[in-house]
Amino acid sequence: MEFTTLTANTCSWFNLRRLLTFLQLFIDREFTESSSGRTRNIEYPATRETHIVAAEADSNDAKRAIASARKEFDSGAWRETTVSQRGDILRRVAQRLLKDKDTIARLETLDTGKTYAECEMDVDDVASVFSYYADQATATVGRVIDPAIVGISSRTVTEPVGVCVLITPWNYPLLQASWKVAPALLAGNTIILKPSELTPSTTHYLVKVLIEEGVEPAAVQLLLGSGADIGPTLTESPDVDMVSFTGGLETGRTIMKSAAGTVKRVALELGGKNPNVIFADADLPAAIDNALTAVFLDSGQVCSAGARLVVEESIRDDVVSELVRRAQKIRVGDPFDSATETGSLISAEHRDKVHAYVTHAIDQGAQLLCGGEIPEGDLADGYFYPPTILDHCDRTMDCVHDESFGPVLTVETFSGDTDAEREANALAIANDTIYGLAGAVWTSDASRAERVARQLRHGTVWINDYHPYVPHAEWGGMKQSGNGRELGPTGLAEYLEIKHIWHNTQPAPAGWFAESSNQ
Ligand code: NAD
Repeated sequence: MEFTTLTANTCSWFNLRRLLTFLQLFIDREFTESSSGRTRNIEYPATRETHIVAAEADSNDAKRAIASARKEFDSGAWRETTVSQRGDILRRVAQRLLKDKDTIARLETLDTGKTYAECEMDVDDVASVFSYYADQATATVGRVIDPAIVGISSRTVTEPVGVCVLITPWNYPLLQASWKVAPALLAGNTIILKPSELTPSTTHYLVKVLIEEGVEPAAVQLLLGSGADIGPTLTESPDVDMVSFTGGLETGRTIMKSAAGTVKRVALELGGKNPNVIFADADLPAAIDNALTAVFLDSGQVCSAGARLVVEESIRDDVVSELVRRAQKIRVGDPFDSATETGSLISAEHRDKVHAYVTHAIDQGAQLLCGGEIPEGDLADGYFYPPTILDHCDRTMDCVHDESFGPVLTVETFSGDTDAEREANALAIANDTIYGLAGAVWTSDASRAERVARQLRHGTVWINDYHPYVPHAEWGGMKQSGNGRELGPTGLAEYLEIKHIWHNTQPAPAGWFAESSNQ
């Protein structure tokens, strides 16, 4: 690992404090402090300095937000807007986000410790999501059904679900919010946004942009603060119609249980333990280079990170030694330095969790090839962790089943006497997980690529690639990686109810119950 140092340049970004010294909640059309007056310091994880202070909502704030969102949905102006008007607003939002890219990317870096370069790309992606859903304004129409009965007109129409609570994690704060906000608003819902308590700044910024670009203010509520504190008020409320959640598996389970009492719609995007399968006939330079990005991008804090390398035994030594050589050269450090390739982890708690995961893996027999130690020196003040590779892992070890959500690659191998046997063994390893979010297969055999891709039980499968996604294609998990899909047409359908309207234009008595039945 190579370290870059924190520069004076970084400190100038703290001038943002003059612009945004305090983040308020947005409830019932106005920015406001929390009813308790409580606040939370938001740390820049690369230096542990507080870069902003945010209001901390409690259940009273949550109840006010629900009441305002409910009232707006039931009788406000937002439901009178047409879908094309809402699409126009989303398009303006996309343009505005691109215009403000620099400010937003800096805020995202300060909240997350991710490199500024990555955060800039994230803003591009966020704008693409708003543009994509702006283009979907015609996709919310229903369809005409012909029951072939004279006098009957039958059709389906779509309607918004209602009040939608949108809960997001800290790793891609604005991007994860955009996957929910854009389709939810296009569909005509009112929304209550609850970003991670660690990374509220860009979601706060987005709320300002939404209002300034024309979203009816009461259609958007913003609650900042601990999910454990206000989550139950939001997820149990009979006035909330839907919860869309992205985050960890345990929180997802809690939310599903708490939403069950009112049988509200629940969409869950949870964790992953994603296999990256390399066959011996793969283009190895490409496979190795992408294996690094797959797991070490954003210091592994990516739900779809290719954290589980499943490599054919015959090429194992070559692949692993090259990965170790390259991983040791990854430049970890100042997120604002353009030479830095990956920034810090999000918090002390998370870094300690990642380190404990590595230590436990070694105790269970994994061989540490690189990384695995909390850095000292220049970067000791931030929550940095080096790219770490654990070899000789197998399915008896917790490290190949549990998500570390850090820069940690586990290596497993497969072999077999025949092609078919090798393929079956690779698949058995890759599918042996409770998760099913994403995975990849590397091979130059196109038929094998297709066979393996079809048999991997994961919501996204890349062939000879890792990580790309487009807003047009659905994203989501099988098994315990969640339910429902974001992005694409299905990502919009999540926020729509379908109603069947049957219109009898020649009404007549049904004639089932005779008028004289009591005689
Ligand atoms: P987390 O579950 O700790 O928190 C996510 C959000 O839930 C936060 O806003 C938090 O405040 C809120 N929350 C916590 N307890 C709650 C409760 N009882 N009720 C309601 N809300 C509550 O997750 P995290 O640590 O922020 O994010 C990391 C996890 O997110 C990882 O497991 C990662 O794989 C997953 N993730 C998944 C995807 C995906 O697309 N599938 C994308 C990004 C992250």
